[in-house]
Amino acid sequence: MSDRTFGIVKPDAVKAGATGDILAMAEKAGLKIIGARMIHMKKEDAEGFYHVHADKGFFGELTAFMSEGPVLVFVMEGANAIKTWRDTLGATNPAEAAEGTIRKKFGTNIERNAAHGSDAPETAAFEIGYFFNGLQLFSR
Ligand code: ADP
Ligand code: MG
Repeated sequence: MSDRTFGIVKPDAVKAGATGDILAMAEKAGLKIIGARMIHMKKEDAEGFYHVHADKGFFGELTAFMSEGPVLVFVMEGANAIKTWRDTLGATNPAEAAEGTIRKKFGTNIERNAAHGSDAPETAAFEIGYFFNGLQLFSR
């Protein structure tokens, strides 16, 4: 069944010039990019996006990182899109990520780990809706 997921090329990876490589890895994994744009989040925007982590010790640092520079937010569609994209990303900590994954290739540490991916259908729906409306998505 075809479903949707949401990704972010995080500020570290945009700055490193890895945006194109990361999008190419999504497409090579069989995912169709149906919406994308660059934004520079304010700290409050990052806090809203990561509200589920508000009680974590790393919340302040994480939201400062996510608002330190521009990011590419994008929406993907495909068979098992959520799992496919999480597998392509690799483990949260780049040191534990499998060879050939995005976080292994482009991540620096557990915080600056290059890219984001939704972890479940409900979070994908929230995250897509946080940045995109229906007219900005091009299902094929
Ligand atoms: P994932 O992005 O793999 O779903 P989480 O949802 O657990 O991981 O965390 C969200 C983001 O918060 C991570 O991608 C990473 O940037 C950051 N993060 C997670 N754990 C830590 C930590 N222990 N210290 C600092 N930053 C963290
Ligand atoms: Mg997560």
